[in-house]
Amino acid sequence: MRKLFFILFAFAFATSLIAQTTGKYVLVIHGGAGTILKSQMTPAKEKLYKQGLQNALDAGNKILKDGGTALDAVEAAIKILEDDSLFNAGKGAVFTNEGKNELDASIMDGKTLKAGAVAGVTNVKNPITAARAVMDKSEHVLMAGKGAELFAAANGCTIVEPSYFFTTQRWNDFLDAKKEDSLKALHKDSTTGLLKQPSNHDYKYGTVGAVALDTYGNLAAATSTGGMTDKRYGRIGDSPIIGAGTYADNNTCAISCTGWGEFFIRLVMAKTISDKMEFAHESLKNAADDMIMKKLPALGGDGGLIAVDKEGNFTMSFDTDGMYRGYIKSNGESKVEIYK
Ligand code: ASP
Repeated sequence: MRKLFFILFAFAFATSLIAQTTGKYVLVIHGGAGTILKSQMTPAKEKLYKQGLQNALDAGNKILKDGGTALDAVEAAIKILEDDSLFNAGKGAVFTNEGKNELDASIMDGKTLKAGAVAGVTNVKNPITAARAVMDKSEHVLMAGKGAELFAAANGCTIVEPSYFFTTQRWNDFLDAKKEDSLKALHKDSTTGLLKQPSNHDYKYGTVGAVALDTYGNLAAATSTGGMTDKRYGRIGDSPIIGAGTYADNNTCAISCTGWGEFFIRLVMAKTISDKMEFAHESLKNAADDMIMKKLPALGGDGGLIAVDKEGNFTMSFDTDGMYRGYIKSNGESKVEIYK
């Protein structure tokens, strides 16, 4: 009799768990937007980028498929891209004007509106894990520099020598940027006085991001970057700023941005899109396109974003020549793309 009760209880418990899941999930990722032209890409390079994106999708997909959370999926996808030296995050990050790497990352949980971020870290192998630790294990949201590094080390994040992040490609980009504008090392825009991207044609922003809707109906977003080539050291972009480069709210959407960070901060990009949905009842696509295609270029900025809403609708808007991007859905539909 007791056994029967136990079986019935276990069955009821299991079905209650199943009832809470929709079975539907979506994962969308980006590997940065910028001057990404097919004419400047070799088939071999294109294959590597697509494989890198696919690896990140596979890592996140496995988690979502097994009933894991959107938070875990975005973190896992970002870690793969941070470890891939092709992308400007983790290994392969761009150099500051001092010739060093300073990394920024953030993560946000749409269910609780909890968030964590790190800025200007130089020795944390996977800055996204440090951002997650700030969210989960501290009472803070954003930690920077030495304090963030010590906190990451104390909370189990892998610490590396700063030289770990070095790649010859990024170093050459940095030298090119210096050469190109050696008199104006900070690439100031003459009208805005703001940091400007080097006009190096092969330049890409390369930041990485991931957004997901899980089978429990929860949203999460994460972003990680080395920032912008030749940025002034100590400069922080939009990627670790909650509401600018990253935002997630179960009531609206999850967003990760890439592009010229100063403009994304000034436009409070991600939160503004969420607000447009919440208060003006705009669709995700309309809200995102309005900000990326109109408001951003009107100020003189450029870039793109990925976003998913609570229904699983997603968008990958950008006003640049290309954006490394991809998605995978619970029905198996999946794609990686690079150009317009
Ligand atoms: N948004 C980043 C920053 O300004 C750069 C990027 O997206 O590649 O730091």
